[in-house]
This record gives sequence, structure tokens and C-alpha cells, in this order.
Amino acid sequence: MNQRVIIVGGGAAGLMAAGKAAEIGANVVLLEKGSRLGRKLLLTGNGRCNLTNLCPTHEWPTHLGPHGDFMRNALARFGAQELRAFFQTLGIPTIADDQGRVYPASEKSLDILDALIEYCRASRVELVLNTAVRGLMLEAGHIIGVETDRQIFSADAAILATGGKSWAQTGSNGDGYYMLRQVGHTVSALYPGLVPLIAQESWIKLLEGLSFSQVVITAYREAKRIGRVEGDFLFTADGLSGPAVLNLSSQLSPLLEQGPITLTIDFQPHIKVDELASQIQSAADTDRQADVMAVLQPYVPRRLAQCIVGLLDSACGRGGHTSACPLRINQLNSRQRSMLIDSVKRFPVTVTQTRPFREAIVTVGGVRCEEVEPVSFSSRKVPGLYITGELLDIAGETGGYNLQSAFTSGWLAGLHAAGAHI
Ligand SMILES: Cc1cc2nc3c(=O)[nH]c(=O)nc-3n(C[C@H](O)[C@H](O)[C@H](O)COP(=O)(O)OP(=O)(O)OC[C@H]3O[C@@H](n4cnc5c(N)ncnc54)[C@H](O)[C@@H]3O)c2cc1C
Repeated sequence: MNQRVIIVGGGAAGLMAAGKAAEIGANVVLLEKGSRLGRKLLLTGNGRCNLTNLCPTHEWPTHLGPHGDFMRNALARFGAQELRAFFQTLGIPTIADDQGRVYPASEKSLDILDALIEYCRASRVELVLNTAVRGLMLEAGHIIGVETDRQIFSADAAILATGGKSWAQTGSNGDGYYMLRQVGHTVSALYPGLVPLIAQESWIKLLEGLSFSQVVITAYREAKRIGRVEGDFLFTADGLSGPAVLNLSSQLSPLLEQGPITLTIDFQPHIKVDELASQIQSAADTDRQADVMAVLQPYVPRRLAQCIVGLLDSACGRGGHTSACPLRINQLNSRQRSMLIDSVKRFPVTVTQTRPFREAIVTVGGVRCEEVEPVSFSSRKVPGLYITGELLDIAGETGGYNLQSAFTSGWLAGLHAAGAHI
């Protein structure tokens, strides 16, 4: 008799798992608590769906957070190439941008969602909406079904694909972690990941909207370097965002519990500190009355230069941002000169918190990877249970890494839950 497989959650991992399990012959029911499938999937990549990345296969784990190695074998079986081929067979060609980010050629996430739903329908998956699963049912430690608000669904296997707890308005509100704890799994502490950072400095709001390309941001705690990223970022009303900051945030999020973290931003990573010092010296030698604003402008945009001058003004005892007459280069003592150089090469910002879960792209933390078999995604604690997608303690960088992890784990869990042995 065919395996009866229940899929809990109709997002990226759940739809893939359902279609795959049904394609190879399982009798599949997908339970989704919302009135629509794939609500988060629709939002991805600003509606364009950055579904994977062309980075070399061996580098993938380094983009998936501290437990990225867990995904190595699974990605070798169903990685970026296989995912693109999969969508191609569903009639969805894909394209890549100059950073290796892969999108459907139509650049519409709806096309990816529709193709997955059609894949499920064609394989005869029973799609049940408006049905929230409340718990997993076990007998002698083995999955025998799931319980919803209204009824019990019996099954030989259950694939949990309820997502993380970010953007809860899309349906993923952390239910799956609760269900996993109920059956004896360990779920690590959960933090917002790929999320903007909040800064302590009140002047940051003066810089809101200023964006930068290819800066280097280094994170320190008590003079010890704890993180470094390169890339694009922008100032927000209360802190920092943009791809480089989002990637750094997943690393800093758990550490912020222990207190603020100092970031230094290098706006000119291609100019060495010594070179910058001598360029500023020669500007000062040429015109001792030079306005510091003018000296700074080749290196940073005007609005940031104004902010730096305001901070130097305060350091010179001239009244900070309110000072009306220009600050001259010859008014700076050697300590203030170094501050000027630091403001280009090591611009300091103190981060106190992240923005909340509802603004986070992913959840950092999840079910401990050691408790999950890394190719089938079966639970090592509960026979018949499979754990996929963002429930795993895998938090990828921006660039398509999270959707690929969801699709990979869904595909392999579907295959194994249906009884295939590869
Ligand atoms: C704004 C935004 C943009 C993003 N852009 C990208 C991107 O471009 N590229 C990328 O790689 N990643 C992106 N991500 C991350 C990516 O969307 C997620 O990592 C991925 O969707 C996780 O897939 P999942 O199947 O595990 O969970 P989800 O896609 O969250 O699906 C979980 C599903 O389970 C359902 N569910 C939850 N609890 C229950 C329950 N008790 N019973 C029944 N159903 C339940 C939910 O309603 C939901 O439909 C983005 C995330 C956000 C928020």
C-alpha cells in the first residue's frame, strides 16, 4: 500500500515536499493554516523570487550560517542546478544576475508559486486550506498522524514545513517549533535574522536614506573583532540596513543579548589609512583655511560630511550640528585630524538591538541539526517525522540561499517520506 504522508505548511518547503512525495506514489495531504498557499514565497526578492544562487557548490555551506555544513550532502543531491532544471521542466526558465542571484525569467514570484501548486495538483496532492495543525500524534514514539482544530489526519509520515517565526503575517509564526518541542526535539534560542539594526546614536536619523556601495563593516565587542562584511548598505531612520548589514545581523542578533556592539564602517576600503592621511595633509598644505566639508567631500557624500563635521565641531567644543561658521582644517588638532580620518575609514556606530521579528527575513536558530538526518531530513528522535525549511537551525545570507535550503530539504524529505531510497 502507498505511504500516506501529511505535509504541515504550504510554503516553499511544504509545496516542494508534497509534490515530490506524491510524484513518486505517496498518498499526500497538505495542510495549510492560511486561506492561501505560499504567502511568504510571493514576497520573496521584492516579488521577483530570488530562488537560488550560482555560487560554487563547495562554497554553499559558508553562506548558510554556523551550521551550514549540515546542508552539504543534501545540496550535492538537489542543489542550484537541479532546482533550475526542476523549474525548467515545470515551464519556468530562470535567469541569473551579475551577482549570481537566480530568478524566474518572468521575475514574478507568482509564477514560481503557481508552478509549485500545479506540480502538486498534477501529482494529486490533496491541498487543504484554512486548517491549522495543533500537534503531532505519536504511538510508541512513531508518527501516526496530526491533529488540527477540527479533526485528526492519520499518516505513516509527517513532514513539518511550518517555516520560522519572522513575518508572522504570512502564517509562519513559530508553531512548528512548539510542535517539535512537544515531541522531544531541542529547539535553540530564536532570533531575528537578515534584519535591520538599531543604532544608539540619535544623529543617525540625519542620514536616513543615504546608501553606499562596497563598504566594509567590522563588528567589535570590547576591541575583539566579532564579524566583518563587505557590500552595500544604507542608513535608516534608527540605524542601518541593506544587504551587507542584513547578512551581518544574523551573526550579531544572538550576541546583542549581551550588550551593544560597535560597528566601524570603512567608506573607502580601497584607500589605505596612511594614503588617506597624506591626501588630507596635502589638502591642508595647499590651503590651510580649507573647509573640512570640502576636504571630506571626495570621500563621503555631502550629508554624511555634514554629520561628520557636526561631530568634529562638538569635539572642538564648537556646539555640534548647530555651528554656523565653517570648520577649517587648521582648527583641528592632531587628535581631531585622526578623528577625521577615522570618520572615513572607521566610522563608528553603536548597535543596541535588531528590528523585530516581523521585519526579519529569516529566523536564526531552530531545531538542532544533530537531531535531524542530513539527507532525508528525518527526525532522529521521532520515526516518521521529517523536518524542513526554516525550522532547521540554518539561516542563509541574502541571495537565494534560504529558498534553496527550503526547496532542497522539501524535495529530499518528500522523496524519503514517500518511501524512496536513494
Ligand atoms: C520579505 C521576505 C523576502 C524574502 N526573500 C527571499 C529571497 O528572495 N530569497 C530567499 O532565498 N529567501 C527569501 N526569504 C526567506 C524565505 O522566504 C524563507 O526562508 C522560506 O520561505 C522558508 O520556507 P518554509 O517553507 O520553511 O516556510 P514558509 O515559506 O514560511 O511557509 C510556512 C507555511 O506553513 C504554514 N503554517 C505555519 N504554521 C502552520 C500550522 N500550525 N498548520 C498549518 N500550516 C502552518 C504557514 O502559513 C506558511 O504557509 C524572504 C523572506 C521574507 C520575509
